[in-house]
Amino acid sequence: MQRRAITISGVVQGIGFRPFVYRLASQMHLHGFVLNRSGQLLIEVQGKRSDLDQFIARLQSTPPPLSRIDQLTWACIASVDELGFRIAESGSDSITPVFVSPDIATCSACRRELFDPANRRHGYPFLSCTQCGPRLTIIQCAPYDRINTTMASFAMCDRCQSEYNDPSDRRFHAQPIACPDCGPQMQLLDGDGCPIETDDPIKELCAAFARGEIAAIKGIGGYHLVCSATDAAAIKKLRLRKNRDEKPFALMVADADVVTHWCSMNAAERASLESIHRPIVLLRKCKDTPQISSDIAPDNSMLGLMLPYTPLHALLLDAWGDRPLVMTSGNRSDEPIAKDDSDAIDRLQGIADLFLVHNRPIRVRCDDSVTRIVAGIESPIRRSRGYAPMPIQLPYACDRPTLAVGGQLKNVFALARGDSGFLSHHIGDLEHLSAFSAMQADIVLYEQLFGILPERIVHDLHPDYASTTYALERAERESMTVIGVQHHHAHLASCMAEHRLDGKVIGVVFDGSGYDSDGTVRGGEFLVGGYESVSHAARLRRVRLPGGDRAAKEPWRMALSYLIDAECDVDWVFANTPISSDMIGVVQQMIARGFNSPWTSSAGRLFDAVAALAGVRLHGTFEGQTAMQLESRASGVPSSDTYPYEFSDETTGSGEFEIDTRSMIQGIVRDRRGQVDSGVIARRFHDTLSAIIVGTCLRLADETGLDRVALSGGVFINAILCERVVDLLTAKGLRVFRHQVVPCNDGGLCLGQLAIAARVSE
Ligand code: ZN
Ligand code: ZN
Ligand code: FE
Repeated sequence: MQRRAITISGVVQGIGFRPFVYRLASQMHLHGFVLNRSGQLLIEVQGKRSDLDQFIARLQSTPPPLSRIDQLTWACIASVDELGFRIAESGSDSITPVFVSPDIATCSACRRELFDPANRRHGYPFLSCTQCGPRLTIIQCAPYDRINTTMASFAMCDRCQSEYNDPSDRRFHAQPIACPDCGPQMQLLDGDGCPIETDDPIKELCAAFARGEIAAIKGIGGYHLVCSATDAAAIKKLRLRKNRDEKPFALMVADADVVTHWCSMNAAERASLESIHRPIVLLRKCKDTPQISSDIAPDNSMLGLMLPYTPLHALLLDAWGDRPLVMTSGNRSDEPIAKDDSDAIDRLQGIADLFLVHNRPIRVRCDDSVTRIVAGIESPIRRSRGYAPMPIQLPYACDRPTLAVGGQLKNVFALARGDSGFLSHHIGDLEHLSAFSAMQADIVLYEQLFGILPERIVHDLHPDYASTTYALERAERESMTVIGVQHHHAHLASCMAEHRLDGKVIGVVFDGSGYDSDGTVRGGEFLVGGYESVSHAARLRRVRLPGGDRAAKEPWRMALSYLIDAECDVDWVFANTPISSDMIGVVQQMIARGFNSPWTSSAGRLFDAVAALAGVRLHGTFEGQTAMQLESRASGVPSSDTYPYEFSDETTGSGEFEIDTRSMIQGIVRDRRGQVDSGVIARRFHDTLSAIIVGTCLRLADETGLDRVALSGGVFINAILCERVVDLLTAKGLRVFRHQVVPCNDGGLCLGQLAIAARVSE
């Protein structure tokens, strides 16, 4: 007989670890108890030595799916007289930060119950268990107990209560436990928010979709706007009402097998689609998908698909059948999605013909996550619902509690204690006041949930980011230490942190824009360094950014800027386009005088210029659109020769060298005037940019002796570019690292900010 005290740390609380331990110990006839203490799991267990060895081995080999064991230690202690195994009270240290789980897709056991006519939860859209259901989106404060969730107002019925109390039940201590007798209910409302009498809201809804109507449906982290994906008229109507010209709509389908009718899918993509996180996965459209309206993702070779992740979605898709539903964010234009019922009815009135609501409030707005598989590796585009707030292990511990506020677009903030980084869900673009308010409120919530009171605050150097303003004001008010981090340094550190890289690397950071203290807009950067410091080693040639931010929305302005820079004839590009010669003259003047036209090395803007020059588009409607369309045009086109480019030998004052893109621009102009197909131009451009990146990395590797390259920045969402760069660099013997945990875009900035702060000793 032996008694052991086992301590497990990592992601071990709030995810059904205690009942798992209870069941395992009971099965093996071991005695003792399990409890939560100070963020760890404490087990005392007594039995035969060999059984105890086996018990520990099984804890480690088959822990609950959501858990992550960072450390397991044990020691022998004195045996006690005790029979049976129990789950002990966690004691009074309730300030102890308890892990908060992300919202998890309906598990298979719950799904079976949902469609089992004999089950008491048959057809109930709010069933869940310890392994699935809402978590982050319903929590109001720590600790994660029912009373602190938006389920508090639902008193459990006797049957739910006894399941909740029974350690052998799979709903033991499942805080959102509910059934048709005691839990939330859904309700169908008309376009004005007035209740519609019906016994079967789902059936009624499907009938409305069949008639071409649009519904607003309350999900787990906010509202979706939903309509039939095979009804072109409905989609046109949705675009018109939502004021969304071309941004792709996401689709939901019943299961992965159905997906193959519309998209090609490999094993990795399928696994991602079916994972417990249930992100939107970007998949390649099949050659012809006549049934799907081309309006869903215009001029785009990809479709974003997801599978049902709540019982409500499962019921809806089951009733709708083997066709996709458009399931896009419940907002007008680009503002944050609606989450509260009154707000939804207010803001979505006139867009939605009817509303499917329910009476379980959403506390935390949480958008769907978006991901893409690039050369077999998951490349997150938005890490939100289903992932946040799972902690990410930092390469170094922050010796003081730290808050990183991220950037401006695609804002995500993060808190760190020790080597755990808690990255928030997607907050959105802070230029929207409601997103900024949400950021402030959610920072307060996260600090309380994880018991982290930051003493330091990290921000981007951009003085006009709302996150920077927040950081500086708060630091002033609360006498916190502030750490300003250059945008591209944060990108690089973010990628390094994911891979726990140390020392110095070569960083390729290509994105839309990042502020630097010299007043230029950077975005085509080659860095050398690590967390402590970086130096700018090379960059794309600078051109004028005529009109500042406005240039990002009007690719033709960048085309003009590049044409002038490369001394090309400008008039032919804009002949027979809506852009007047007066307008061209004005922008030419701006460029010539440098008026409101800072210098930029932005790779994102280079994509814009090339898209305009190749005749793909002159105006953009959403961020990243031109790059996406250029990639779509290039996909499937075989590689041929590249355009010429040069490395300038003269370094700028700081020792940076420049990659001269003028001959490439001249080459594109020649192709265009020679009627070369835009797909061929797009492909040549991708191949040229890849060659530029590879050539520059090799030169830097040669100069520095470094052999590791980290790729970051939103441009690397581009699969053609990413795959080619990875292949070519790997073939040259360099080790390449890219994002697979957080997005390469600004959604991943806060991780880099934390990693840098961890190395700053103040
Ligand atoms: Zn479940
Ligand atoms: Zn009940
Ligand atoms: Fe960026």
